[in-house]
Amino acid sequence: VVEFTGVVKEFSGMRALDGFNLTLHAGECVALLGPSGSGKTTALRVLAGLESTDAGSITIDGIDVSALSTSKRDMGMVFQSYSLFPHLSAGENVEFGLRMRKIKPAERRRRAAASLAMVGLDDHFDRFAHQLSGGQQQRVALARALVTEPRVLLLDEPLSALDAKVRVQLRDEIRRIQTELGITTLFVTHDQDEALAVADRVAVMRAGNIEQVGTPEELYSRPATPFIADFVGLSN
Ligand code: ATP
Repeated sequence: VVEFTGVVKEFSGMRALDGFNLTLHAGECVALLGPSGSGKTTALRVLAGLESTDAGSITIDGIDVSALSTSKRDMGMVFQSYSLFPHLSAGENVEFGLRMRKIKPAERRRRAAASLAMVGLDDHFDRFAHQLSGGQQQRVALARALVTEPRVLLLDEPLSALDAKVRVQLRDEIRRIQTELGITTLFVTHDQDEALAVADRVAVMRAGNIEQVGTPEELYSRPATPFIADFVGLSN
């Protein structure tokens, strides 16, 4: 269970997070949805430990993680832009996720291969990143994020750079893998359809706070404000 309580994050006096509260239950996928600048990425980055907080607390399974470095927080991350090392093969990129651990090379290789198989890239271990399509690169990034068996998976607009068809395929695959592994997941997106399709619950952000959080059905049938109604696409 991940819990944000009253989290504040300021950038030169401007509050990107303004008393942000959110609970991620064990094993669920929560989509953080909201317009540009509402604070989605900042929420993900403070949970990852990539940004400090100015007030409030973040706990994982009841333990305050504020003082922990990113690596100690035990999270897997995938970002929008492909972050693979171009001079390494797909398999080596995934193994890189294990580099800090004392794991023998043969075991590292076995785990990387298993992780690539999970994302449907069994045959691509030796391909270089630049020989892969955008969708395949994001699959490798996902395999790399999951190879360490993290407690929490953080996805920041992982599909935004892909074309529409690949985006839907990978979205559904992320959801399948997330459910199979039962991994607690925070999925940041500005795309309503994506959020409603991928998440158990959707948290809609506005100006550094959550305006409403609920299942896709709840947001659709009982939007709390006109902003929510508008944002979940009832106006489309
Ligand atoms: P987008 O969908 O455009 O990425 P977002 O909802 O993820 O938007 P954030 O990136 O979290 O929003 O940004 C929230 C606010 O904080 C914005 O006003 C942004 O300009 C500001 N901000 C974010 N990071 C920084 C930073 N490193 N320095 C200064 N201001 C920042």
